[in-house]
Amino acid sequence: MKAAVVTKDKRVAIENKTLRPLKHGEARLEMICCGVCHTDLHVKNGDFGDVSGVILGHEGIGVVTEVAEGVTSLKIGDRASVAWFFEGCGHCEYCNSGRETFCREVKNAGYSVDGGMAEECIVTADYAVKVPDGLDSAAASSITCAGVTTYKAIKVSGIEPGQWIAIYGLGGLGNLALQYAKNVFNAKVIAIDINDKQLALAKDMGADMTLNSKTDNVDEIIQQKLGGAHAAVVTAVAKSAFNSAVNSVRAGGRVVAVALPVDTMDLNIPRLVLDGIEVVGSLVGTREDLREAFQFGAEGKVVPKVTMRPIEDINTIFEEMEKGQFTGRMVIDFKHKA
Ligand code: NAD
Ligand code: ZN
Ligand code: ZN
Repeated sequence: MKAAVVTKDKRVAIENKTLRPLKHGEARLEMICCGVCHTDLHVKNGDFGDVSGVILGHEGIGVVTEVAEGVTSLKIGDRASVAWFFEGCGHCEYCNSGRETFCREVKNAGYSVDGGMAEECIVTADYAVKVPDGLDSAAASSITCAGVTTYKAIKVSGIEPGQWIAIYGLGGLGNLALQYAKNVFNAKVIAIDINDKQLALAKDMGADMTLNSKTDNVDEIIQQKLGGAHAAVVTAVAKSAFNSAVNSVRAGGRVVAVALPVDTMDLNIPRLVLDGIEVVGSLVGTREDLREAFQFGAEGKVVPKVTMRPIEDINTIFEEMEKGQFTGRMVIDFKHKA
């Protein structure tokens, strides 16, 4: 089968791989599609260490073609996800307290174990979330990381209906953050990006205010016009966006860090203490978060913007992503083989 494999020279090679036989509790998926997340770009660039040889992909959707002994949660013909949170240990304090993505023994698809950017993929059945009927596979792929991550981040932000949330970065994650914030949490959204194309899409999707941080003094405008946002979610891959988020929230506001630039942010201590600001990281979402995020997609409350591409385009897609040349998500299509 064809698979997108990370190489030593920080590119992706399309290699011919053979899957091993299934072990107890596993299922084999024939992949339908797999979204390309900016995290895949970090992974193939070695931002989190050298993982050359691994098959990329954690926005995978496939059809179950085989189940091993002990599998009761999936059956042949079901559609299921291959997510960044691929498997937890199932018995630690994190796994047992609704924080399974922070399990210290966690396996991550397309990073520590082979992912879904291949014609087939082996999953641990109990950790692959079923895709509900009525949600198409391309939309489901985008929700498997971008959707669940932003849905969870907005939960973590504690935003209430009618309150203002600042979303930094309106790319693959950000356009879904906007839709979950508006259509599920009933919040008002300030969309902030450096790319007017992304801001135009945000406006179309219902953003209440759009700001370009290249030309607008974002934190000043938000403080002056709104008295500060109630919360901020940062999906922009830039330190400056994290710093701006801290300055744009009102006293008691919460900044949820989602993007992963390999950098440090500044945190002014008097600002933190005197204004009671909270800064918290949020990592993808649990299986239950993903089930909920899928359901809102199936109900049409969130409609990912996706473009189908062949697997051979993967290196080009990463170049386009780095240059900010597309809006929404590029999704590798395994159904229409070249
Ligand atoms: P993307 O490339 O599709 O979007 C990034 C967006 O940020 C683009 O629209 C870009 O124009 C914008 N941007 C860049 N610099 C900016 C700035 N200074 N101010 C405002 N906007 C700016 O990427 P994506 O797939 O949406 O992923 C975003 C980040 O989130 C990546 O770092 C990725 O690794 C991370 N991520 C984290 C999690 C998690 O669980 N925490 C999950 C998925 C992705
Ligand atoms: Zn991702
Ligand atoms: Zn655990």
